[in-house]
Amino acid sequence: MTGRTGPADSEATRKPRRSTQQKSAISAELSTLGGFVSAQELHRLLNASGSGIGVATVYRQLNRLADDGEIDTVTSPDGERLFRSCHTAEHHHHIVCRQCGTAVEISPPVEQWLDDVGRSNGFTAISHTFEVFGICADCSTSAETS
Ligand SMILES: [Zn+2]
Ligand SMILES: [Zn+2]
Repeated sequence: MTGRTGPADSEATRKPRRSTQQKSAISAELSTLGGFVSAQELHRLLNASGSGIGVATVYRQLNRLADDGEIDTVTSPDGERLFRSCHTAEHHHHIVCRQCGTAVEISPPVEQWLDDVGRSNGFTAISHTFEVFGICADCSTSAETS
């Protein structure tokens, strides 16, 4: 308890603004991290820093940010959706550490080839996902030394 004396926030004062604040709290937290995180993990981090945002809200806002292209998303080998705030808004790909989520941005020379392959098979509106997973240098070193 913080000993606040003012009236408790009533339901009536809840405005759409609330969701904007949650959204910016979520993307601010995400941008302090270098790697990919799950919604669960981001929720834990947000709560550790005193935010009371519910896990369902974190899921919803992360998915919305990803759909809007404001953050990047990959699906882990376990099928979990992971999120990251990237340095560039341009189309790019990642190598992601399976253990700690650390990510490196890469530009594989496959963009044109994938397009051509799609078109030569009669497909239009070509898009692709390309995700590379591995164990980063830090994680493989600590596995050796422990
Ligand atoms: Zn790692
Ligand atoms: Zn690509």
